[in-house]
Amino acid sequence: MRTPEEPRRILVTGGAGYIGAHVCRALAASGFQPVVFDNLSHGHAWAVRWGPLETGDLIDGARLDEVFRQYRPRAVIHLAGLIAAGDSVIDPGLFYHNNLAATLTLLDAMRSNGVDRLVFSSSAGVYGEPETIPIPESHPFRPVNPYGATKAMVERVLADFATAYGLRSVALRYFNAVGAAPDSGIGEAHPHETHLVPLVLDAAAGIRPFIEIFGSDFSTPDRTCIRDYVHVSDLADAHVLALSRLDQAIGAESFNLGSETGASVRQVIDMAIKVTERPIDARMSPRRAGDPAILVADSSLAKSVLGWRPVYATLEQQISTAWDWHKRYRLVDSRCAAPAS
Ligand code: UDP
Repeated sequence: MRTPEEPRRILVTGGAGYIGAHVCRALAASGFQPVVFDNLSHGHAWAVRWGPLETGDLIDGARLDEVFRQYRPRAVIHLAGLIAAGDSVIDPGLFYHNNLAATLTLLDAMRSNGVDRLVFSSSAGVYGEPETIPIPESHPFRPVNPYGATKAMVERVLADFATAYGLRSVALRYFNAVGAAPDSGIGEAHPHETHLVPLVLDAAAGIRPFIEIFGSDFSTPDRTCIRDYVHVSDLADAHVLALSRLDQAIGAESFNLGSETGASVRQVIDMAIKVTERPIDARMSPRRAGDPAILVADSSLAKSVLGWRPVYATLEQQISTAWDWHKRYRLVDSRCAAPAS
């Protein structure tokens, strides 16, 4: 007979990463017990502060079974995966293994251990070059790189598993995650940073000599790319709300998570200059391959169905909290080997 699950215990794959650590923090604040499963290839053991860390690789089904049997989680929040869209063009095999094949192994382990609730970290990357702004969930999937394709494929798998096996899932399509939870000891700390906001803050901090603006010939008011920046704590809260949603007999559902306002690369740099009160040297560079001109979310569904209420709605709040993290930790150890407390 199967051992009963622990209703408050949640397995968080990728829980040692930037968004994952914030999800664990939000879970703990709501009375859940996060158990992190992470191979630490990109995450950090120091970011696991709200529950145990089980190291392992998702592709290792036996290891997963062991963890499921030990903790008997009620649900899984699956964030583990590779995220650098540019890298996915260069090495798609790596992305299909890590993001698609590994997810199948996880879903098999969930099925054999009787766990039927999943929150999946999807991405605005499923849409590709959008036809309409803001982008609703009903927008067709036209990913322009293998990263976005893996997210779209997993969403399809989740729909099929709902029909055939009764899996309940909520896919959360993140737009651009930024910021850090104040006074939490966690923040964005990718060993090989590619994202705009931490790179801009590195330039403000003098860790990098300048920031490159990828493209100044887009059809936007200031000719630079527009993105929808959303605070990582607000993203994290949505995962807790998604868990409640899974208490209902749903199939596979998907929600956009964005602040519903666009900011251009120029506006991000200008706000960083204002927040940090430091000069930032910005230099024009050619466009980066596969960058749509404008991505802005319609997140009304997450608000009406999940009851999601973003707290850090302005770019100023988002960049201020990111800068606080930089000052306390990134300047102490710019390699992000470990933060000073
Ligand atoms: N970007 C930039 N310079 C950089 C990094 C990013 O101009 O050094 C731009 C990028 O072209 C995009 C926006 O900033 O328009 C956000 O990029 P990021 O990599 O942070 O997230 P993405 O939108 O690719 O998920």
